[in-house]
Amino acid sequence: MHCREASEMMSLRLDSELHPQEEQALLQHVLSCDSCRAEWEAIQRTCALFRSPTFATPPPDLSSKVMTRIRRHESQLAILRNGVVLLLGIVILTSFCLSFWLMAAPPIESVLDNPPLVSAMATIVVGVVTTLVTLLRAVALVAQAVVAGPGCIGLLSYVAVAGALVMWWIRLVWGRRGLAPRREKL
Ligand SMILES: [Zn+2]
Repeated sequence: MHCREASEMMSLRLDSELHPQEEQALLQHVLSCDSCRAEWEAIQRTCALFRSPTFATPPPDLSSKVMTRIRRHESQLAILRNGVVLLLGIVILTSFCLSFWLMAAPPIESVLDNPPLVSAMATIVVGVVTTLVTLLRAVALVAQAVVAGPGCIGLLSYVAVAGALVMWWIRLVWGRRGLAPRREKL
C-alpha cells in the first residue's frame, strides 16, 4: 500500500466506509510507516478534541440570560438617550428665557452701574453652565433669575414646557419598559 492510498483510506475509515480487509491493510501500513502513523495520530487527536466536553451543549437558560442582559443594556441606553434629549430641551428653553429676560432688562450701561444687577447676571451665567452639569440646580437658578426680572410670563411658559418635557421623558422611559414583556410573548 502506498502512502497516498493509506491517506485516502484514513478518511474512509473515519466515515466507517472501510471493509474489514481494507481496515486491516491500513492498520498494517500505519504500523510500518512513520509518516502515515503521525498523520493517523493527528487525525485521532482532532477527533478526540471534537468529542471532548469543551464542545458540550450550552446551559438551557443561556439564551434567556443573554436576552435579559441585552434588554437591560437597551433600557439603560434609552434612559441615557432620553436624559440627553431632556437636558438639551431644558438648555434650549433656559437660553430662550434668559434672552427674553435680558431683552426686557435695562440697557447694559445702567446694568454695569448697578452692582446688584451685575452680580445677578453673573449668577445667571453660572446657572446656564451648571445646567449642563446638574439639572435640578440649573432649574432652581434660572427660576430664581427669571422671577427677579420682569419675566413672570416667561417663567410660567418655561415651567409649563419643562413639565411637558419631563412628562414626555417619563412616558418614553416607562412606555418602553412596559412594551418589553409584550414583545417577549410574541
Ligand atoms: Zn505511509
